[in-house]
Amino acid sequence: MQTVSYSRQLEVRGSYDVLVAGSGPAGICAAVAAAREGARVALIERYGVVGGNLTTGYVGPILGMVGKGTMRDEIVELLGVAENDMIGQTGRAHDFERAKMLLAQFVNHPNIDVYLQTTVTDVIKQGSAVVGVVVTAGEGQFVLQGAVTVDATGDGLVSYLAGATTEKGREDGLMQPVTLEFTISGVDESKGVICIGDVDNVKLGDERFLDYCKRLAEAGELPERLAAVRLHPVVYPGYRQVNTTQVNGVDMTHVEEIFKADLELREQIYILLDFFHKHLPGYENCHVISSGTTTGVRETRRVIGDYVITAEEMAAGCRFEDVIVHRAEFIVDIHNPAGSGQAEAHIQYCDPYDLPYRCFTPKGVENLYTAGRCISGTHRAHASYRVMSICMAMGEAVGTAAAMCAEQGVTPRQLDVKQLQDRLINKGIELYG
Ligand SMILES: Cc1cc2nc3c(=O)[nH]c(=O)nc-3n(C[C@H](O)[C@H](O)[C@H](O)COP(=O)(O)OP(=O)(O)OC[C@H]3O[C@@H](n4cnc5c(N)ncnc54)[C@H](O)[C@@H]3O)c2cc1C
Repeated sequence: MQTVSYSRQLEVRGSYDVLVAGSGPAGICAAVAAAREGARVALIERYGVVGGNLTTGYVGPILGMVGKGTMRDEIVELLGVAENDMIGQTGRAHDFERAKMLLAQFVNHPNIDVYLQTTVTDVIKQGSAVVGVVVTAGEGQFVLQGAVTVDATGDGLVSYLAGATTEKGREDGLMQPVTLEFTISGVDESKGVICIGDVDNVKLGDERFLDYCKRLAEAGELPERLAAVRLHPVVYPGYRQVNTTQVNGVDMTHVEEIFKADLELREQIYILLDFFHKHLPGYENCHVISSGTTTGVRETRRVIGDYVITAEEMAAGCRFEDVIVHRAEFIVDIHNPAGSGQAEAHIQYCDPYDLPYRCFTPKGVENLYTAGRCISGTHRAHASYRVMSICMAMGEAVGTAAAMCAEQGVTPRQLDVKQLQDRLINKGIELYG
């Protein structure tokens, strides 16, 4: 491999109490929670809109559940989907376009500087501590300094750049497939089926809907990997959120693989549309109105922290003394890394479980938290806590912790977790019981 080394002087554009990299469900909650604690916050987002999968990723409905009183409740209310249930039986996807404005308003706090179209490209370290990030924006590179940094990039990029240990996928290295979600309208609600996923036994006539799709795929009417046709309801009648396209074997941290995957996914949208027109009653006149701006990535890096949580613990409803997210609940939802549908024949249900503080502190790196899908857990554990309700609660807890560290002049490992728990409880967040 040919390499080049270079050095340059960069302007330090700002110094903050808390830097938050990434503005997905975890990042927006981390930033707002820290700001509400009085911290000065920089929220850094590579795209031109905040929200991550809530907006640019076109992901809905917001799934999973957490204990009462978190920002998750505030956001589902804001987006008009407060009645969504845990695994989506009644869950409707929100209006992604409106969410772009509503979430921008949400983060528009006097203590937050929002840096849009600004990508974190490196970290500045002093010893093992992250003390700032290098970003690239339209005007070039500059540095933002922060007492504490929250890695909410989904991909765990900040942690990776800081030298944290990361893992990807299951034992054979394969990760969950990538998907491009899209929205259709023009569905006749009197006939058009809703199918929330592999656990759904909804019927078309006498036949289970997913068996019907599978049968037609075997007959050559649909590529087999697209046979798990998931059609979620949306806040508007006659709309469906389609979570069905998929490409396997892609590592979205490898830049060479991204374009080919995106092209294939966009072609699949129209293969599916033809299938809907031909074979789904009520869908004869539907049309695509929008799709994700960016490929939906379920899984990349997991950042190894001071504790690695497992799905087995979660299934048993684990409790921890250093709990900071309580009563998290979702199935172990592994979209098959090597084919279509689910990876496991029997979908694992989880009793409401806790996430401990130690899952958010990357091993060997100081002044850094993770939040969102990149926290410390196994491949199977990640398949449950990755849903957006749980990521929001993580962001809020970690944002509060980061603000407290900055206020007290301590590192995340020096922070008294009991004090953090008291602060969360004082905000009305359920942490025990
Ligand atoms: C196809 C698909 C379907 C899904 N279905 C559901 C569902 O129905 N319900 C549900 O609740 N969950 C679902 N999920 C899971 C859920 O959407 C994600 O796990 C969740 O959004 C993760 O939140 P996050 O904040 O960690 O990351 P993200 O939502 O990915 O946000 C990360 C943000 O960081 C930004 N970023 C990344 N790198 C940088 C950088 N270097 N500099 C600056 N910014 C950066 C990104 O642009 C993005 O805005 C689905 C996921 C996918 C992909």
